[in-house]
Amino acid sequence: MQPDVIIIGGGVIGAACAYFLAGRGVKVLVLERSHLGAGASGTTAAIVSISGSSGTPEALRPLNVEGYHLILKIAQEFDRSLEIIHGGMLYAAMNDREADEIRPFYEEIRQMGIDCKLMNPDEARQFEPLLGPAIRAALYNPACYHVNPFRLVQGYLDVAMRQGARIECGVEVREITTSNGRVEQVVTDKGAYQADWVVVAGGAHTSGLLSSSLGLRIPIVPARGQVILTEACRRMTEHVIMFLNHLYVRQTASGNFYLGSHTEFVGFENRITLEKITAFTQFFTRAVPMLGRLRALRFFAGFRPVCDDNLPVIGPVPGCPNLLVASGHGRAGMRFSASTGKSVSEMIVDGRTEHPMEAFSPGRFAQG
Ligand SMILES: Cc1cc2nc3c(=O)[nH]c(=O)nc-3n(C[C@H](O)[C@H](O)[C@H](O)COP(=O)(O)OP(=O)(O)OC[C@H]3O[C@@H](n4cnc5c(N)ncnc54)[C@H](O)[C@@H]3O)c2cc1C
Repeated sequence: MQPDVIIIGGGVIGAACAYFLAGRGVKVLVLERSHLGAGASGTTAAIVSISGSSGTPEALRPLNVEGYHLILKIAQEFDRSLEIIHGGMLYAAMNDREADEIRPFYEEIRQMGIDCKLMNPDEARQFEPLLGPAIRAALYNPACYHVNPFRLVQGYLDVAMRQGARIECGVEVREITTSNGRVEQVVTDKGAYQADWVVVAGGAHTSGLLSSSLGLRIPIVPARGQVILTEACRRMTEHVIMFLNHLYVRQTASGNFYLGSHTEFVGFENRITLEKITAFTQFFTRAVPMLGRLRALRFFAGFRPVCDDNLPVIGPVPGCPNLLVASGHGRAGMRFSASTGKSVSEMIVDGRTEHPMEAFSPGRFAQG
């Protein structure tokens, strides 16, 4: 049976789109070239917060607040626990300059109605005993939790499948063809598919697919993040500890520590570099000394889909209204997954959205 909507990509964004569309009675087919969560969504720290480590652009705030609450609500429909750890985020300043940097951030979070707390070094170490003596100041934001990212992707899709969605893994989309300003076919290595609507949620590969198929310029590039996963141990903290050099640590529900990740623009070079791993271990053993005694189990890297203006790309492609893009969420795709999926479903089903979406339109690049 022909689907109403084909979603290209079985990452968290494609999965969230499938969840909301299927919930509105739309027949959905998800095409994933590898396995679910094969892209950035399978390597992510899966931290969901109101306001991120470098602030949240004004245009994104409604989606941020909505997405934060929606994930918690939707998780109640999942068959398996999302392994939510609701411990808040502790921004840790390691020198006086960083201590100055977190003050304006404190104001920004308070303006969003969140009761956050600034701490001096003694208060910070009392609050989070894992912190080492080098800490200079800290800011606690309680509006933050972290989850198991595979469970989030699978959870969205399990619910979508209960409502009739289909998923085909191992199907690579090679081309999207159009005719008279409408999508005609989605051509794959397993044959061609047709639908009334197509949503491209290919993560960092979105740009390549759209430019090779349609000559369309959507400036989303891969931004590598490297990760160290330690052995599991007894629960030591529920906080996400976030440093201002974009390194952070969280302890997963199974007890492993996830240490990441910096941002590197090196194309799709899927390597773990000694340079980064050395920098991480040197930093973390000073900042959170206990980590130095743990065994490292795994090293891996993921590619965030980063758009050159640091805003996601959500909406119809200019000149082809039934072809939508849902990508470019950079460092915050987990955080924005539910609100993106909901907005895409509104675009397709209602023809309008609850929140303003103009700032995220693919058309903004055609104008530039
Ligand atoms: C190290 C790291 C840490 C992160 N931490 C956080 C965090 O704490 N909080 C947060 O909110 N975000 C975080 N992010 C960002 C977040 O993970 C991403 O923004 C999000 O996963 C992007 O999801 P996506 O579905 O757009 O892309 P992806 O997860 O990359 O999914 C795209 C999918 O499309 C498939 N695909 C691509 N091309 C084709 C094709 N031609 N045919 C068929 N299938 C195709 C791919 O195989 C892939 O499975 C982090 C990312 C990284 C790398």
